[in-house]
Amino acid sequence: MSLHADRPMRTHEGVPLLGNFINGQFEYTDRLFHDISPVDGTTIAYVNEADAQQVDRAVQAARQALETGPWGRSTVTQRVAALRAVASGIEARFEEFVAAEIADTGKDTHHTRTIDVPRGIANFRFFADLIATMGSESYHTDTADGAGALNYVRRRPVGVVGVIAPWNLPLLLLSWKLAPALACGNAVVAKPSEETPYTATLLAQVMDDAGIPAGVFNLVHGFGADSAGAFITRHPGIDAITFTGESSTGTTIMQAAAPGVKPVSFELGGKNAAIVFSDADVEEAADGVARSAFSNCGQVCLATERVYVARPLFERFVQALRVRAEALSPARADSGAGIGPLISHAHRRKVLGYYARAVSDGACVVTGGDMPWFGDARDGGAFIEPTIWTGLPDDAACVREEIFGPVCHVAPFDTEAEVLQRVNNSPYGLAAAVWTNDLRRAHRVAARIDVGIVWVNTWFLRDLRTPFGGVKLSGIGREGGMRSLDFYSETTNICIRM
Ligand code: NAD
Repeated sequence: MSLHADRPMRTHEGVPLLGNFINGQFEYTDRLFHDISPVDGTTIAYVNEADAQQVDRAVQAARQALETGPWGRSTVTQRVAALRAVASGIEARFEEFVAAEIADTGKDTHHTRTIDVPRGIANFRFFADLIATMGSESYHTDTADGAGALNYVRRRPVGVVGVIAPWNLPLLLLSWKLAPALACGNAVVAKPSEETPYTATLLAQVMDDAGIPAGVFNLVHGFGADSAGAFITRHPGIDAITFTGESSTGTTIMQAAAPGVKPVSFELGGKNAAIVFSDADVEEAADGVARSAFSNCGQVCLATERVYVARPLFERFVQALRVRAEALSPARADSGAGIGPLISHAHRRKVLGYYARAVSDGACVVTGGDMPWFGDARDGGAFIEPTIWTGLPDDAACVREEIFGPVCHVAPFDTEAEVLQRVNNSPYGLAAAVWTNDLRRAHRVAARIDVGIVWVNTWFLRDLRTPFGGVKLSGIGREGGMRSLDFYSETTNICIRM
């Protein structure tokens, strides 16, 4: 299928050429890098790396769009219409977005068709609906003379927002930030991951077709350090930075933002735990943990990498999880039923490094632990076996550090207090899943886990109105619903003496 049925993209050496989108125009230079398929290692596209001057022009275009263009004077009604047009524009090209996301990530069709692209569309519709219906805060304030005062809060855009996204859910996570930023009336300079530039480039076309004024949405491609990512974060014309990615990158970005005291919203890494209590349904919990550990080849910030199982269930649970992991093995599973590849060879080297480390630290490898062998073109890809370990101490690197692959360590526990202590003894604090049929225990335990999101008897069930984010190394701030609007707008309180 042609990826660009509606709007042809330029090509270079027979594959698409992805340009930067600055001030309403696609720009092409000869600074190119390869967009590599994780399925077979071939070049899917060439990508134009933005230099510092292009990023600077993107920031200036964004500023101009706010100060002199129609966007700076746009009404809520106009922005609602604009966001809905973007959502409809993605929807109209649904198959192209699906194909582009799969080409970049190698993820399975079902995941892309049911999560990545629909959520990309939903993010724009959700924030359109939210601003269309929201009220504003107001307070009647007593005064000594009895006349009183009225306080009310007005929101205005923060300005030019730098948006930096990762590769694991490329369209979903980029639009999760773009939609509220635009809803609040900001202009943006966005950078997708260098690993997954494709759907972001299609989105630039959609923004253009949807009539988003020039300069409001700018897209620059490139890497992090000494490239487009760093050019955005250290640019004095950027008013706020929203970033999803690794915790260590968050540290670097925070340092870049510090001189300008810029607000940052960070959604970072995790080392998420699942707890399976003795009253849980083992099969149901094993289904849930298999999904939370192995979906998207384990490349989900919310993925479970540590599993604590009540000792009486331990052996049964490990065997139940092993059966599910083996059914997902890319080499053993029926065609198409197994997990896709990791994002790149570099990432596979990192994950395999943890596989080796676990063994040298004394892990028992219940299943997996290596790369699969296909005997066909997929051997050029970045496939890896879903893996389960037991037997590591809680202070092992593989139990403490985020691996971001299809792997989890399963350990037995004896008491609720003990498991809570072990779950909370982590530098991360993003999400947790609790498997229990004891209602009181569910509430009690959920309240004591030191994370931003707890699921009980489920995982990845999202309501976009709810706060999303983590504590400790997992992030700063919350996005979702009104929390997003709080980050992407400045508020002015107006106090009127009656
Ligand atoms: P990454 O930090 O390597 O890169 C993310 C983005 O930051 C990319 O666009 C990259 O080019 C850019 N970048 C890298 N260095 C930079 C720098 N010095 N200055 C500016 N930009 C820079 O992360 P990744 O490998 O793409 O994504 C995986 C990580 O993201 C995992 O740690 C995962 O847990 C995390 N993540 C968190 C959430 C969440 O919501 N908490 C969601 C998804 C992914």
